[in-house]
Amino acid sequence: MTTIKPLPVSRAPVPGENFASFIARNAAIFGCTANDLIKHCLNGAGCAPFGPDVQLDCSDAVISQLATRFTLKKKDITALFVQSHWPFLERRDLTATSGVNDDDNGETLLSQQLRFGWCPQCLLEDRAGGQDHFLRHEWAFSAVTMCSQHGRPLNGRCTACFSWIEVPECAVYGKKIAFVCPTCGAPLDGQLGIDAVASQHARKMLKCPQTEALWRRIVDYETFLLRALRIKQGNAKRPKMAHIITTLANLLLHAANGSPVRPIDCFANHIFNAPSKMGWPTRHLSEPFAAAHLIERRKALVVIIATLEDSFAQFGFSPHYAFAHHCRDTMTPENYIKFERSLFDLARLALPISL
Ligand SMILES: [Zn+2]
Ligand SMILES: [Zn+2]
Repeated sequence: MTTIKPLPVSRAPVPGENFASFIARNAAIFGCTANDLIKHCLNGAGCAPFGPDVQLDCSDAVISQLATRFTLKKKDITALFVQSHWPFLERRDLTATSGVNDDDNGETLLSQQLRFGWCPQCLLEDRAGGQDHFLRHEWAFSAVTMCSQHGRPLNGRCTACFSWIEVPECAVYGKKIAFVCPTCGAPLDGQLGIDAVASQHARKMLKCPQTEALWRRIVDYETFLLRALRIKQGNAKRPKMAHIITTLANLLLHAANGSPVRPIDCFANHIFNAPSKMGWPTRHLSEPFAAAHLIERRKALVVIIATLEDSFAQFGFSPHYAFAHHCRDTMTPENYIKFERSLFDLARLALPISL
């Protein structure tokens, strides 16, 4: 058996940093990919490809080997894994791209690729504070589309070349490491834009108190979902409510076989815009939420919040449409019954009063 040797140089973890970010930063020092570094570091420990599984695998063998490689205490390595903070987490709670084509049977088959959103403001402050960029644990969750600290939407798209980024790469800038777009190399804190919003509107939105209040409302729900994920499923009320919210989001993002539209596509919205063409790879999945783009997941959450709080106009939806009518037309009868029952169950569990 080969001896595990420490790496000659390495970066220390930042509190709150996720494993993928830690590996990507260290890979930048060696000029290799995150996947190559993980393979090198976990040689012989039976590591999964760099993706959702590796993010969840904090087995003792993996932790020990990484601690030796990075000359760190085991508890510092353990803290990098989402599962050490959310022990009941499942793969579908993390955002992953979809490996399913249109002709497939619609079962949810998440790819090996983790997809990240990021807050450009957080990254900007990292660099301004003299440290490396780092990706926060929460940014890998399907239930999270907002930065809870700045109360603004996370981004998933490069503001320079507009390509969607799945796993950001790192580049060395002087002594610091920054996350950059893998397509054009622009740093992800380059501009404070918002996905799918023209930059001049984005600037206005970022200064508008009404929009800020709506964003804060979404943050409240997302914080609730994150807390619920820390509790074991069963009869506890919070995980039950969180499960229903995810079920509703899946139903809103799902297209019935042969249907060109999903329920979510029927709700026009200029603040929470999500072009329907974005949903092509995920529309027929049975559980599309984890595989959908950030702005689609956010819109699904907004539709749910607006329904529960009866505040459609406030959230920027046209007042002239019939909510139930759209959902009934775009869902299969079984899914519509499930949707109505889920809404009823959620109301019965007293959301939003107890949020
Ligand atoms: Zn932020
Ligand atoms: Zn780019």
